[in-house]
Amino acid sequence: MTGLSDSFQRPINYLRISVTDRCNLRCIYCMPPGGVCLISHGEILTYEEIYTIAQAAAELGIDKIRLTGGEPLIRSGLPELIQMLAQIDAIDDISLTTNGTLLGGYAAELKQAGLRRVNVSLDTLKQDKFELITRCGNSLSEVLEGIEVARAVGLNPVKLNVVVMSGINDGELLDFAAKTIAEEWHVRFIELMPFAGETTPAPRFVSASEMRQRLESLGELEPCLPSIGNGPAKYFRLPHAKGTIGFITPVSEHFCFHCNRLRLTSDGKLRPCLLADDEIDLKQPLRSGISSAGLKQLIEEAVASKPLRHHMAEGHVPKERPFSQVGG
Ligand code: SAM
Ligand code: SF4
Repeated sequence: MTGLSDSFQRPINYLRISVTDRCNLRCIYCMPPGGVCLISHGEILTYEEIYTIAQAAAELGIDKIRLTGGEPLIRSGLPELIQMLAQIDAIDDISLTTNGTLLGGYAAELKQAGLRRVNVSLDTLKQDKFELITRCGNSLSEVLEGIEVARAVGLNPVKLNVVVMSGINDGELLDFAAKTIAEEWHVRFIELMPFAGETTPAPRFVSASEMRQRLESLGELEPCLPSIGNGPAKYFRLPHAKGTIGFITPVSEHFCFHCNRLRLTSDGKLRPCLLADDEIDLKQPLRSGISSAGLKQLIEEAVASKPLRHHMAEGHVPKERPFSQVGG
């Protein structure tokens, strides 16, 4: 087999890079109300350092990169980073996960820099719920506009990530699903993962099978393939719908056996698994002048240490870092 593969023969070709741990929202499932302890600027990887790591990873077999955060669009000059990454020959797909609040202003520049597509987190279509969930202001209209601008400039397919929470936004399952009938919306319902910190209101879990049951009133969900991307979602289409409905089931049905990813935190730690605290530091070796061969060896060590699966069902959740630092 060519390229990278881990000790369980899973091919690893996807790197998720968190470019910042900062965010302009405070979603109730991701952050405590006061935010999280922030990493100091000097500890955050520079764009050149990110490029060096991506280049080494690409030489080993990584061909897909996703930029995430915190909120990646609040880090200045993000299009420059995309332009740098787009020059790496082996990288054939650069995508972004964003809360969408700043997307409208950046979409054209991002596309021009080499970004291919975008996922937007949108947990509600209602302004009062948006304020409740994000704990921040009135930017729902900006998010909706950002989605339209992203589509118009060709960052397609724009996928919408909805974390479903009982008593908070589960009443909107049908509204989101209905959007996929009339318009080309690609909505992915995500099961809530346990959050390590304190949060109010405390969001409660809804399983994907319960979501599916509730959606049946709109018609039969026909399985379909994603038009692009190779993530963990399972996709369906309602009868005659233009768009699709995906389910991501980290809790009720883990997808670890198909895991193809590594994560790089904004302070330069390579993380073999989102849901385990183990990390390999790349920043210090980089700043001490490690060779490209040495860097590749560290990346290979991270791949070799990928666990077979997470153990969330047995109560093991990562304690060292919130999702906003690892990129979700
Ligand atoms: N700020 C960007 C955003 O919100 O899209 C990118 C970072 S965010 C940490 C990445 C993804 O993680 C988002 O789609 C978010 O919904 C998801 N996420 C965060 N906490 C989660 C949780 N407790 N359960 C499920 N998904 C979560
Ligand atoms: Fe920020 Fe994204 Fe976390 Fe919401 S989910 S607080 S937008 S990092």
